[in-house]
Amino acid sequence: MKPVAKKATPAAIAVLRQATALWPKREKASDGLLPSQAHIKQNPNSDHNTGYAVDLTHDPKNGVDCAVMFKELKRDPRVSYLIFQGVIWSFNNGLSAYKGSNPHMKHLHISIKDGYGWDTYDWFPWVGKPKRWNNLKSKFTKVKAMKKEVPSPKEY
Ligand SMILES: [Zn+2]
Repeated sequence: MKPVAKKATPAAIAVLRQATALWPKREKASDGLLPSQAHIKQNPNSDHNTGYAVDLTHDPKNGVDCAVMFKELKRDPRVSYLIFQGVIWSFNNGLSAYKGSNPHMKHLHISIKDGYGWDTYDWFPWVGKPKRWNNLKSKFTKVKAMKKEVPSPKEY
């Protein structure tokens, strides 16, 4: 049995935080970081025990489509394996049917490779940035546009 960590890794926590920043209305009912006592008993070698795993609630109505994430996150170098709706993808073995007791119908399970626990880089790079970031960006572009209106010396 893997010892149970007191805190999930920053990388795992970042998945949930970044998802909430992108989709503030998302459902969180099946979110998970550290395991419950029942979960530890049922699955003593789960990556949740070490804090290197995270469950993200499937909520396509509010933007969190775990089928899309399952596809996209295969490219993320931090991911060791993904489980969603009866399918498991692992970095080492690719796709196969998931035979565990919980078929993961309501959430995507993400296991993070050892050594990537502190990597909080953007987990959803294929999605536009949250509105707050867009605002900052548009302010920046405005300043750039204003500067453009001033003719450069060679245009005189
Ligand atoms: Zn999980």
